[in-house]
Amino acid sequence: VLGDSEVPRARIPSIESHRHRPEVEQAFASGRGSATRLSDTIHVRLLYVAAPMKNGAIARVALPLVEVERAEAAIRRSLLVASILALVLAAVMSLVIAHFTSRAIGDLTHVANAMARGDFDARAKLSGADELSDLGRALDQLAGSLSVTMQPLRAERDRVERILSGMQEGVLLIDASGRVAFVTAALRQMLLLGADCVGKTPFEAIHNDELEGLVEGAHATGATQAAELELAGLKPRRLLVRVVPLVGEPTGLLAVFVDVTDIRRLESMRRDFVANASHELRTPVTAVRSAAETLRFAMENDPEAAGHFLEIIERNAERLQHLVEDLLDLSRIESHEYRLTFGAHEIAPLVARVIDLFRERAEKKRIRLTADVPAELGPARVDPRAFEQVLTNLIDNALKYSPERTTVVVRARATERRGKPAIRLSVVDTGPGIEERHLPRLFERFYRVDTGRSRELGGTGLGLSIVKHLCDALGGPIQVESTVGSGTTFSFTLARADDAAV
Ligand code: ADP
Repeated sequence: VLGDSEVPRARIPSIESHRHRPEVEQAFASGRGSATRLSDTIHVRLLYVAAPMKNGAIARVALPLVEVERAEAAIRRSLLVASILALVLAAVMSLVIAHFTSRAIGDLTHVANAMARGDFDARAKLSGADELSDLGRALDQLAGSLSVTMQPLRAERDRVERILSGMQEGVLLIDASGRVAFVTAALRQMLLLGADCVGKTPFEAIHNDELEGLVEGAHATGATQAAELELAGLKPRRLLVRVVPLVGEPTGLLAVFVDVTDIRRLESMRRDFVANASHELRTPVTAVRSAAETLRFAMENDPEAAGHFLEIIERNAERLQHLVEDLLDLSRIESHEYRLTFGAHEIAPLVARVIDLFRERAEKKRIRLTADVPAELGPARVDPRAFEQVLTNLIDNALKYSPERTTVVVRARATERRGKPAIRLSVVDTGPGIEERHLPRLFERFYRVDTGRSRELGGTGLGLSIVKHLCDALGGPIQVESTVGSGTTFSFTLARADDAAV
């Protein structure tokens, strides 16, 4: 041993030879050697490393293992911290990447779902350079080209739908399996069908044997079948139905329903009207004829009685005249030939003029006929001729049906109609009143509460019908209130002239 950093120079010659220490031998043999063992000199475990120097001697360093282990532990700690940091970083990065990827997939799924629903306006709008963005762009392109292709198809479908929903006629489509494939809203409303009728057989949906017969007939013969169905139930209807076999594939039947309830009702009303009018006319005509025949006989044999028959002829001729005049008025009003000329008119003078015409008749019956029209009402928007006719008919009825010593008042009051100032006119009598069951039909042509009494008093049964039509034309519907035993009030409303376009 030439020197030792831990041993004083004087003691060096007494140190034993280190030539055969394993690390020294290794250093001689292979240029580098190392070993760990308990040191003889200082009695601690040491790590020895030996290497030859330029001069051929061997240099050896020794480090206590405790320090080596400390250094190792420090390295391991650093490695652990670095690994944890790397793991956290990797986790964060994968979370971020997963977030962006799943968002892109979400966008793609959204577009795909929208397309499946038929909405081709949705776009993923992915802008990256990865495969997902490529897929997104491909999907956007697909949606775009489908949207262009679908446009005319949709327009066609919408047009057909609009035509069908605008049709008043009901349409029912029966598919090849004999089940309801489609119904229009009009038909659902006509037959009060629920949305669940699609998929049922026509009989299950509509419960009508006749319709079932038509469907079967059209199916069996391949020819159009038509009939008029009478439907009872909540909303009784008369429907004209045509069941047409569809040409081409897929096969099926198309049933078209036309609601003729109103047409048939009007036809029956017209028939009734003609029958009523003929009947009304026949009675006075027959009376005139038989009175004329008897008159001829009376003139020869009983000149005194002749006057009586002349009177019958006169009275019936007058009645005929009233009837024909009322019928003509009604027909003119209904066919809109009776042109109304609206103007701004004060109500009071119009009412006074009509009352004057009836004054004598009222006095004869001792009925107090008065006007109650406040001066400050202002002008009404009215056609004076129609107004006077309405008042005439109402006052005529009040005088006709009220007993002696009662009162009839024509009353006018300021009111409002649809938020605008208006004038309400009423003809109020204290006569016998009308039973409630007659009120809904009172304004029908030829409707009378007591036919015999009306005829006897010269009534035609058309007066209130004319009043109703004229009031509708004047703008306010006629209304009636009546209490048996205490009297009847007929009322209607006119617009105030200063607030309406005259
Ligand atoms: P008519 O020519 O028979 O009077 P209207 O159409 O004018 O026909 O009236 C119909 C029916 O209404 C009359 O027959 C009568 O029975 C009843 N009526 C109308 N006005 C009154 C009234 N003021 N009081 C009682 N009954 C009335």
